[in-house]
This record gives sequence, C-alpha cells and structure tokens, in this order.
Amino acid sequence: MNLELSEEQAAVRQLASDFVAREIAPHVIAWDRAEEVDRSLVKKLGEVGFLGLTVDEEYGGSGGDHLAYCLVTEELGRGDSSVRGIVSVSLGLVAKTIAARGSEEQKRRWLPGLTSGELVGCFGLTEPGTGSDAGQLATRAVRDGGDYVINGTKTFITNGTWADVVLLFARSTDAPGHKGVSAFLVPTGTPGLTRRTIHGKLGLRGQATAELVLEDVRVPASAMLAAEGKGFSVAMAALAKGRMSVAAGCVGIARAALDAAVKYAGEREQFGRTIAHHQLVQELISDIAVDVDAARLLTWRVADLIDRGQPFAVESSKAKLFASEAAVRAANNALQVFGGYGYIDEYPAGKLLRDARVMTLYEGTSQIQKLVIGRALTGVSAF
Ligand code: FAD
Repeated sequence: MNLELSEEQAAVRQLASDFVAREIAPHVIAWDRAEEVDRSLVKKLGEVGFLGLTVDEEYGGSGGDHLAYCLVTEELGRGDSSVRGIVSVSLGLVAKTIAARGSEEQKRRWLPGLTSGELVGCFGLTEPGTGSDAGQLATRAVRDGGDYVINGTKTFITNGTWADVVLLFARSTDAPGHKGVSAFLVPTGTPGLTRRTIHGKLGLRGQATAELVLEDVRVPASAMLAAEGKGFSVAMAALAKGRMSVAAGCVGIARAALDAAVKYAGEREQFGRTIAHHQLVQELISDIAVDVDAARLLTWRVADLIDRGQPFAVESSKAKLFASEAAVRAANNALQVFGGYGYIDEYPAGKLLRDARVMTLYEGTSQIQKLVIGRALTGVSAF
C-alpha cells in the first residue's frame, strides 16, 4: 500500500480543505442551531465535483479513485459532519449504487442530476420495526400490470425531506427473509409518498432526517434496480462501501478535535502557564493524535483494496468500527481539554462529540460490525 498521495489526490484534498474554509466553517454553528444546512450548498458541492467522485464522466461524474473520495470525505467531516453525511448518502449510497447496479436508462435519468447537485438522493432501508435486522423489512411492493404498488414506512432517512429520489428497499416476493427484498428508485414527488422531518436529534442537526410514509405509491416496473429479490445484496454492497465513507468522516471529526485541542491548550493558562504544559493535558492530546492516525490508516486500506479490485467488506467494517469509536473518544478528550468551555456550543468540542456519537449507530451499529468481523474470522454467523 502506497501512503504517498499522487499529485491529483493532493490537489483534490487541498480543494476540499479550501472549500471547507470558505463555504462551511463560517456557518457551522448557525446551521447546527437552526437545525438546517443551507440547501444551496448542495449545488456548490456539485460544482466542485465532490458529488461525482468515482462516478464516470460519461454520466456527469468527476472520476477519481476511492482514496480521493476518502480525502474529500475526511475534509468535509472535519468541517461539518452534517455536510459530510449529505454527500455520503446522495453520492456514496445512492449515486454510486445506481452507477454500479443501475440499468442504462436509470443511469442516464438520475446520475447527471445527482452528481451535479441538481438532485439529492436518499437511502430508504430502515423501518420502525427493522433496524439492524434489515432483511426482515416489512414495506411491500405488489406487482400490478406493468407497475409496482408500494406500501410501508421508512424512518431515520438522511436527506429524507430534501431528496428527489429514494433508493427504496421493499419486499416484492414471498421468498423468506432478505431473499424477497428488491430495490426501487422512487421519485419523491410520486403521489402517496409523504415525508416528515424528525427533530430533536443529538447531533447531525443540520441534516434533514425524515420519516417516509408510502401509501399506494405506484412506480413502473422499470423503477426496479437490479433483479427482483436482489435488493438486500444491493443494500449490503452499498453499505460495505458506505462504511468506508463513514470511517473517513470520523477521521475528519477526530482531526478537528485534535486541531481544536492543540490550539486551545496553547492559549489557555492555568497554574501560571498554558495548559499545554500539563502532562495530563498532553496525554489527552496524544491519545487523540494516535486515534486520528490509526483510524485514517484503516480507512485508506479499504480505499486501496477497492481501487485494486480486492475484497474489502470486512476491512470496511473494521475501519468503521474503529474510526467511529475513535471519533467519540477523540471528541470527548477534546472536550476535556476545553474544560467548561467545551460544554458550550461557541466552542467546537461539544458538537464534534454529538456528531460523532451517531457514527457508532448507523450503517450498522458497532455490535453489528463485530458480528460481520466475527463471522469472517470464525466462519460462524452469529446474526
Ligand atoms: P436496533 O437494531 O433496534 O438495535 C438496538 C441495539 O441492539 C443496538 O445496540 C444494536 O447494536 C443491538 N443489536 C441489535 N441486534 C443485535 C445482535 N444481533 N447482536 C448484538 N446486538 C444487537 N437508515 C437508513 O436506511 N437510511 C438512512 O439514511 C439512515 N440515516 C440515519 C441517520 C440517523 C441520524 C440515525 C440515528 C439513523 C439512521 N439510519 C438510516 C438508521 C440506522 O441505520 C439504524 O438506526 C441502525 O441500523 C440501528 O437500527 P435501530 O436504530 O433500529 O437499532
């Protein structure tokens, strides 16, 4: 594995860093308090090519490899996890899945809009009754002539109220468990689809997280993505890459925690000298630094495996598990360095901790990642 960035990779990282400084950093506190990122940011993310990374230029994408995608994701995560998540879902889970598994017609219909930021995508897997055990989902798609009629409820859907299209998972045959699940591309303007914003989140407050209710939503059979009954494998493939993106975002959180803690420790004086002079403060800071490096190396390994066409799903679970727990630790350590000021939202540590916490929950909780890793090591599924 080559740890040296190519010129192109270094340039895209710099572009992302400049974008964060210009378009994101000045607004982070306001967006968090208002519980809404300025939606015009999506177009700007599209204009600089961040919503088209790894997608073919033929479909409006900006190309690049998965390491470049991780570099941009880390920078966005350093700036604001709400923004990072918007990209990780619209590009990472939706556009990349359409690019990998969609028909030619689906690619031409959706990819140019999603990669330019004209359109936003969301990923509709979780339901009120099925989270970790997603293969048991209850949303139903019933064939009616040339159409499917879909009924069900999805919850905790990132980008839910902003999205123009849902990559939706529904049970379309009577095959047991996940074998009966198919994937559909459902325009959110379709009659019968209603959306409700979920308020009161601990973190990622700038993101539009929503419940989607589908009542007799009719879509043509051509809206099915991949073959009937292959929906669960589509979802799992999307999440395997998605976990790398979450991990990269977590590296960004840990780096923001490190930068903030080092700066504050050099400024704040107690006991007649800056707190950077106190050994126990240095311990907090060095623990964050080790977490940043370890999480980043695990994440880059996943990108390297994907770019070389090697199996990566278990490594992606390892990276996501470690990086998400590391981001929580790092943000918590940074908060400690800030003392009481860490508890006030004018200072960054509190938001970093709130935003980090969900990373251990979504795209598979830490327990689910351990079951994926344990299954690979023992050959025994403990699900
Ligand atoms: P449960 O599955 O009920 O789990 C509860 C607890 O039980 C957890 O600790 C879990 O680890 C544990 N547990 C469950 N099964 C096992 C087991 N076999 N062994 C050991 N422990 C177990 N979903 C989407 O589809 N699209 C999105 O865009 C999306 N965005 C989200 C955004 C936010 C802010 C949040 C909070 C969630 C989002 N989710 C999304 C949903 C998320 O993926 C689920 O919340 C997650 O998969 C966990 O499901 P659950 O909340 O139902 O918890």
